[in-house]
Amino acid sequence: MAAPKPRPSILAVEPYVGGESKIPGVNRIVKLSSNEGAFGTPPGAAAAIAAMAQEAHRYPDGGAQALRAAIGARFGLDPARIVVGNGSDELLALLILAYGGEGTELVMSAHGFLMYEIAGTWAGCRVIKVPERNLTADVDGLLAAVGPRTRIVMLANPNNPTGSLLPAPEVARLRAGLREDVLLVLDAAYAEYVTRPDYDPGAALVDASPAGNVVMTRTFSKVFGLGGMRLGWAYAQPPVVDVLNRVRGPFNVNAAAMAAGIAALAEPGWVERSVAHNTEWRARLAEGLRAAGITVWPSEGNFVLADFGAPARARAADEALRARGLIVRAMGAYGLPGCLRITVGTGEECTMVIEALAAFMRAGP
Ligand code: PMP
Repeated sequence: MAAPKPRPSILAVEPYVGGESKIPGVNRIVKLSSNEGAFGTPPGAAAAIAAMAQEAHRYPDGGAQALRAAIGARFGLDPARIVVGNGSDELLALLILAYGGEGTELVMSAHGFLMYEIAGTWAGCRVIKVPERNLTADVDGLLAAVGPRTRIVMLANPNNPTGSLLPAPEVARLRAGLREDVLLVLDAAYAEYVTRPDYDPGAALVDASPAGNVVMTRTFSKVFGLGGMRLGWAYAQPPVVDVLNRVRGPFNVNAAAMAAGIAALAEPGWVERSVAHNTEWRARLAEGLRAAGITVWPSEGNFVLADFGAPARARAADEALRARGLIVRAMGAYGLPGCLRITVGTGEECTMVIEALAAFMRAGP
């Protein structure tokens, strides 16, 4: 029997495997595999979600007026240039579908965020992965990889899973070196956690690009503690906003997510407390692991990349963590099979990871 067949590019995709939340036989697990916020759901957002239950029969505002106004007020941006999505993943995929496709190329850094490759592949783009320097995107390499068929360059800044950052002048140099018909997507999912002073998430570059070929994407899944609500947003000049509004679903963000987002933005001190915690424990986690003899890459996100030097060592370390109920992310899919990515959790959770990996290292290879 001839079964219906999708476009061939669809079958070229390796499905994205999200963070597990269970280990068979282990009751208490600590999930540090998806870079979720360390403080749980903001209380105001939890209340807003509960309140929305009575409105579940109503379609949400397809124009997301209130949420876009709240985002605009918080970040000092024009709400007319903001589009919200079902997670920033949705917006990234829509941008790739809208600007990429068969016969085009998508350029990304070798260890850039996995969704770019997945969406680029199923959109039919040739995905070009550019080698990095010290696990950091290489602007000269990215520019050299851009050819006449390139339509889109994807950059996560800071990058997941490496944690590396491109300083603002380097990002500006990247944009300046691109043809005006190439869209530069600056994915700033981890922007709030950055402590380096030479960083710009991208909004300024969006405004300063006369061709309107720069987009910044952000998320509520990390510092705002709303990964389960699926809420992200993009900031771009009017032509790109127009394209996103043509291709997105009419009610692509649900009512509970919008209410939760507005409440999370209004939660007093939430971001400040989360960032202060992250800055402290990101350093303590990295120091603890280094003291145990593990290489830890510098990170500007809410996670660290622990490098065990060899895939077998990383697998054994992963097993040692799992034996204690600690779930982190193996990095084979990212081409870093010798590494594990560990989210900065609560202080207690970070301490558990340090102790488990110190014991693992003491036990020897
Ligand atoms: N970009 C990067 C770099 C990420 O790490 C993630 C989350 N894994 C996302 C985008 C997607 O975030 P969300 O869809 O939850 O907004």
